[in-house]
Amino acid sequence: MSQIARSPKIYDVCIIGSGAAGGTAAKVLTEGGLNVVMLEAGPPLNPEKDFKEHLWPYQLPHRGVGIGGNLKHELNDEFMAPNGAWEIEGEPYTSAPGSRFRWFRSRIVGGRTNHWGRIALRFAPVDFKSRSTDGMGDDWPVSYQEVAPYYDKVESYIGVFGTKENIPSAPDGIFLPPPRPRCTETIIKSACDKVNVLCIPSRLAVITQPVNGRLPCHYCGQCGRGCLTASNFSSSQVMIPVAQKTGRFTLITGAMAREIVVGKNGKAEAVSYIDKATRTENRVYAKSFIVAASACESARLMLNSRSSTFPDGIANSSGALGRYLTDTVGSSGAGYFPQLEKMPPHNHDGVGGMHMYVPWWKFDRRNDFLRGYHIELYGGRGMPGVGEFDDVCEEAEGYGLDLKRTCRRRYGTFIGFEGRGEMIPNEHCYCDGSPTAA
Ligand SMILES: Cc1cc2nc3c(=O)[nH]c(=O)nc-3n(C[C@H](O)[C@H](O)[C@H](O)COP(=O)(O)OP(=O)(O)OC[C@H]3O[C@@H](n4cnc5c(N)ncnc54)[C@H](O)[C@@H]3O)c2cc1C
Ligand code: SF4
Repeated sequence: MSQIARSPKIYDVCIIGSGAAGGTAAKVLTEGGLNVVMLEAGPPLNPEKDFKEHLWPYQLPHRGVGIGGNLKHELNDEFMAPNGAWEIEGEPYTSAPGSRFRWFRSRIVGGRTNHWGRIALRFAPVDFKSRSTDGMGDDWPVSYQEVAPYYDKVESYIGVFGTKENIPSAPDGIFLPPPRPRCTETIIKSACDKVNVLCIPSRLAVITQPVNGRLPCHYCGQCGRGCLTASNFSSSQVMIPVAQKTGRFTLITGAMAREIVVGKNGKAEAVSYIDKATRTENRVYAKSFIVAASACESARLMLNSRSSTFPDGIANSSGALGRYLTDTVGSSGAGYFPQLEKMPPHNHDGVGGMHMYVPWWKFDRRNDFLRGYHIELYGGRGMPGVGEFDDVCEEAEGYGLDLKRTCRRRYGTFIGFEGRGEMIPNEHCYCDGSPTAA
């Protein structure tokens, strides 16, 4: 046996997963003086190579639509930040008969923070006490007041724009100045004002002023393609590099954790992982473990960590592990606004997301369903993407000048609304297990 095998290095902490949770834990713990090892199932991220923020569709081999490969692309095509997909080869999953649960996963350093929408909302006080308020779900063991100082800390560090509005369903935070509303958003805002529906500046983790050495947003509007200046938040660009600078951080990529190994004393002592490149099984040892592989993956890993001490999986004395998943669900629709056809060409630039949104506005009324939702706005004259003019082709057959004229006339005339909350029929899942904020 080699010397290494007899005396493996024992880290203070092993973190599984490098996304929002893992990256933040790595930053805080390494800055606090601990030696941390992180296992990440995906490859490292290389912004210079991986990000396509400033490319045109015609600069990509398939105009950005993607061809599949290891990750079967649908939402995420060649244009998007890499390695986020609904289906991943070699990682199948099933869902209950009759359900339409679809599971978006990211396999790359930074996890889903490379692909998220950067909408950075706080839970409202009522979200922490839902059982006591409406009898459904469970109260959290902590209150909004206890968590609020940590929201302050995170927002100050990552940078979130917004405005203070004093709305009970959307608590205020520490905000950078928001960008000005776009043309399409002013149409919705004035319509909302007429019917007493709230419409306020959105709250996105995009910096509009320099923060901790990061440059402010240059309004290219392409956040979903990655951000070379790290002006939007991702764990890969904002948390992990800070941990790396401490010299107390070891990142092992391509490492799929398979089991948390329990020692003779009944405590976790190692993680057994598969090195995806060599297909070999290895172990890392640590005194403590943080399972941050996303809600469903973390549950799967813990259920797979069976031992004589924990025959039903580790940390599962309640039997609740892997059950009672609640998701943030969404549903969307878009409408054609004829008045936009007459709008002269104008600057639609901005952040890669909405500048205005509709928070839950009926928080003080009795509704015929529990809780609520917010409405995200999209549309207008953004950079045309693949399939942008599909519906035009349905209206105007053929090709040539007529088709081009119709495309020009229809370009930017749609405004979309995406409702996101707990009481909307489940169409898809981005967030696996995060309760809704609005
Ligand atoms: C398209 C999209 C849009 C979204 N928009 C928003 C939004 O606007 N606002 C919002 O609040 N939330 C949004 N979310 C949700 C948000 O991104 C997630 O809630 C958040 O990233 C969860 O963080 P996490 O650390 O738990 O998991 P993740 O960020 O998913 O990170 C988990 C990491 O663990 C790794 N991993 C998994 N299994 C293993 C294993 N066995 N071994 C080793 N590593 C493993 C993964 O590769 C991944 O890197 C969005 C998500 C998506 C996909
Ligand atoms: S819109 Fe701003 S934050 Fe988004 S990719 Fe462009 S520069 Fe980065």
